[in-house]
Amino acid sequence: MKRLLILLSLLVAGPVWALQTLEVVATTSSMGMLARTVGGPAVKVTELAPPDRDAHMLQARPSMMRALRDAQLVVAVGAELEIGWLPAALNGATNAAILPGRQGHFEAAAQVPLLDAGLAADRAQGDVHPAGNPHLNLDPARMATVAGALAERMAQLDAANAAGYRERARAFAAAVASKTPGWKQRAAGSGGVVSYHKDVIYLTGVLGVPFAGTLEPVPGVAPTASHLEALSGRLKGKAGVIVHTPYQPPAGAEKLAGLTGWKVAVLPIDPPAGSDAQAYFSLIDRWVQTLSGGR
Ligand SMILES: [Zn+2]
Repeated sequence: MKRLLILLSLLVAGPVWALQTLEVVATTSSMGMLARTVGGPAVKVTELAPPDRDAHMLQARPSMMRALRDAQLVVAVGAELEIGWLPAALNGATNAAILPGRQGHFEAAAQVPLLDAGLAADRAQGDVHPAGNPHLNLDPARMATVAGALAERMAQLDAANAAGYRERARAFAAAVASKTPGWKQRAAGSGGVVSYHKDVIYLTGVLGVPFAGTLEPVPGVAPTASHLEALSGRLKGKAGVIVHTPYQPPAGAEKLAGLTGWKVAVLPIDPPAGSDAQAYFSLIDRWVQTLSGGR
């Protein structure tokens, strides 16, 4: 009887637990994947930027402000990736708990060392990476470190579920560690890669694939004929692949392909909206496959 009463009380308590779900808003689908992976059943995740749009170029929308209004935690990439819209959306949301510097504001870029940090970036030239390269989402190892930091932040906000947050972050890191040798092995001996934007350097670094340059002369500045000609001159006699995302215009890639004979591949840099860790690993698999094709 006592056991039955305990069981009944657990069943009754179910909806109360559901009400205590941590409300998380992620700026991109990569950050959403991480929040979902670490948060598990203890969080509800809303994503702001659709993965088929350039997160550098979005504008704040009323729907973003509505999502942020009730959030307990915002998970952003940081390093100025969202500077064009997140500050405005946060301003419109009037939710002090998730403003920068508060416990409810988490930035992935603040948890790991960034590439291109400390370069003499010239904002006047239109460089959109003055705070270091924000595209760490394609680096599974850095994402695992971020997952651990995110687990600690979620544990601070929701101590009752701390053990679960930490366990899921550990499981994600373990999955990354077990997959990485296979990724490196498949990519070994790959030719170079040219990307439209400087958004693949974390992954090429992890895989040991030579990064041969970008179609953009400066991060955020459209390709120019003179830049592409100079780039093709440096690629002469080498093998490789040119990659751009579905939202980046194909003309520059096609022109460089014509000058060099390199193939063009179109790949997203973020997983689909609502992704779990498996979908993220599938995206890394696709990248490894593409980069190892450019031999
Ligand atoms: Zn960028």
